[in-house]
Amino acid sequence: MPTPTDYERMLRGVALRVTRPRVAVLAAVYDHPHADTDSIIGAVREDLGDVSHQAVYDVLKALTVAGLLRRIQPLGSVARYESRVGDNHHHAVCRSCGAIADVDCAVGHAPCLTAADDHGFTIDEAEVIYWGTCSSCTAAQSS
Ligand SMILES: [Zn+2]
Ligand SMILES: [Zn+2]
Repeated sequence: MPTPTDYERMLRGVALRVTRPRVAVLAAVYDHPHADTDSIIGAVREDLGDVSHQAVYDVLKALTVAGLLRRIQPLGSVARYESRVGDNHHHAVCRSCGAIADVDCAVGHAPCLTAADDHGFTIDEAEVIYWGTCSSCTAAQSS
């Protein structure tokens, strides 16, 4: 896990001023991959006390635009955030409980899928969601 100093270095690396809410939001997302905004707000409040929803939304947006966080939103889910950025990884999502797991890029480098017809686009990312049933839901169904 990164230390507070690491978070400060990441913020400076993308030319963002170091503020306590920014550090707290980064730490919350590193601690809870694929967390939704409400869980991130909960984690940030444990750390900083009272912080407004709007402040957390604003920080999430700034960190996502700066490339420190990635925002994903599987169909039917609220937005979720993760700190694993820039590696073109994919997600497996459980249709039953909404659990999300990381799946590495299919051939190890982006984009890992070759479009049958790229229509002349220079493609640099393939966003894939593998839909299915997670192991705990499968176990619950078969028992
Ligand atoms: Zn499930
Ligand atoms: Zn992920």
